[in-house]
Amino acid sequence: MGAHITANAMLDGSPPARTLRTADALAAAGLVADRDAAAAVEARYAVAITPAMQALIAHPDDPIGRQFIPHPAELVTAPHERADPIGDDALSPVKGIVHRYPDRALLKPLLVCPVYCRFCFRRAHVGPDGGVLTAAELDTALDWLRAHPAIREVILSGGDPFVLAPRRLGALLGALSAIPHVELLRIHTRVPVADPGRVTESLAAALDVEKPLWLVVHANHASEFTPAARAALRRVQARGVPVLGQSVLLRGVNDSAAALEALFRAMLAARVKPYYLHQLDPAPGTARFAVPIAEGRRLLAALRGRVSGLALPTYVLDIPGGHGKVPVGPVYTDCETVRDPWGGRHPVAGGEGAE
Ligand code: SF4
Repeated sequence: MGAHITANAMLDGSPPARTLRTADALAAAGLVADRDAAAAVEARYAVAITPAMQALIAHPDDPIGRQFIPHPAELVTAPHERADPIGDDALSPVKGIVHRYPDRALLKPLLVCPVYCRFCFRRAHVGPDGGVLTAAELDTALDWLRAHPAIREVILSGGDPFVLAPRRLGALLGALSAIPHVELLRIHTRVPVADPGRVTESLAAALDVEKPLWLVVHANHASEFTPAARAALRRVQARGVPVLGQSVLLRGVNDSAAALEALFRAMLAARVKPYYLHQLDPAPGTARFAVPIAEGRRLLAALRGRVSGLALPTYVLDIPGGHGKVPVGPVYTDCETVRDPWGGRHPVAGGEGAE
């Protein structure tokens, strides 16, 4: 579907004005050739492509188009894929909370996103109807956090917390910041790149809470760091909020050393520290994005020695089934020798074999 389309009908000089959410809208924009195939995917998984992302799509199969344009392959679930790949559901003590690690908890105040990524690990749950926690549900979630003094860090995720109105986000952050044992707040968002206009001064002001707050922005390709995205990030950074980057290693999007280098350099240029590069989670219908771990390791190894250490994220796998996140390499040492960035081997002083 759509692979033979050579240009986005949006690229006619005028900026696209609205978020595309339906097969009809995608077809009218020239982003899909087979409207019915797109409709079949849309019936199962949410679709949204913001004007900011539409403007970056020159072809449906380019790195931005692949991330957001529905594809018939999404309707085929591979045997190893699962609706809840990282085991959120089994680790949810109350609605909206995921408790996987002793000192941290995830709070998902809503399941709405500005865009819907075709590789999303929560694709079975997120969507425009995925809803927002009711006031009572949010109170229950906050009470759970208050009752668990081992929780030192709360990570707001979703969905995308930056879709909340600034007043609501500010109230939520204020309530979390007031919990005595919560030392650290974190927000995971795609909004600064996907819909930068939402990052208003009021939204940035809502982040100005007493406890330390870190923002983690999800971006997968250098071109996502547009001038508008960088300006949105600056508004957040101007409030003293440090910003980290997280990305997913994706076939056809960033699966080359050059693409990853450009992405991480674009992050640093936007004052964003690359934090995690995620191995793709096996969510249903996402196999076309998979890059084997061995290949991911080779790509990252190719970058070491070529870019600043500041530009290198940790390559991680969220072990399917809810077993947590672990670094997966590359590995430079067998404990007796160490490999340099160019492949040379050197003995490790004080290694396991040393007396
Ligand atoms: S922004 Fe995040 S949660 Fe939302 S669709 Fe994309 S990957 Fe999924």
